[in-house]
Amino acid sequence: MSEHKITPVPQKKGVTVAYKIRNSLYLNITNRCSNICIFCPKFDEYKLHGNDLFLLAEPTFEEVMLAVADQKGFDEIVFCGFGESLIRLELVVRIAQELKKTYNTPIRINTDGQANLVHGRNIIPELVGLIDSVSVSLNAPDTTTYIRLCNTPFGADGFKGVCDFIRDAKKLIPHVIASVVNLPGVDIGACRALAASLGVSLRVREFTGE
Ligand code: SF4
Repeated sequence: MSEHKITPVPQKKGVTVAYKIRNSLYLNITNRCSNICIFCPKFDEYKLHGNDLFLLAEPTFEEVMLAVADQKGFDEIVFCGFGESLIRLELVVRIAQELKKTYNTPIRINTDGQANLVHGRNIIPELVGLIDSVSVSLNAPDTTTYIRLCNTPFGADGFKGVCDFIRDAKKLIPHVIASVVNLPGVDIGACRALAASLGVSLRVREFTGE
């Protein structure tokens, strides 16, 4: 994936590796992304629900497990921060394996759906039995809109890759949904129809304009 444009990893150690929103425990394992979405809040600041998700260095396996052990009262674990967790696929798999041994808790990944392009192979089988649900940022009903909103380094292949990822994940992962941000100019009805054609439902996330 090195030939593609990936946001850089900062160099020093940050602190918010695990954070709770309601009863879900979120894991923030990277700030790197394969997209540079024009609506992403992280380009203004890395704050989410009062948590500073800027990582001065990416956490190790041990640091993630310690961060989880510090938390109580969650009924779901979600790989989701201001970065694309599946860029760190080996770590995701290792963490999920360990979590499955220790916690009786479903595990979700929120993803941009480009992991197969990043890694150059179908990585979905590696998540089977570990990841219970996947939420994929579809973000657009067509290639042109996707490129405009997400600045994918994969060009026209990026949007096709996301659609293929949703279709393939649906075959192997118990729960798969697509999501879209309700941005001006995005045809939500067309996104819903596309998601349905891929076999999943669509979650519409509100854009605040902030
Ligand atoms: S993939 Fe997610 S975290 Fe990355 S730039 Fe886009 S919205 Fe932000």
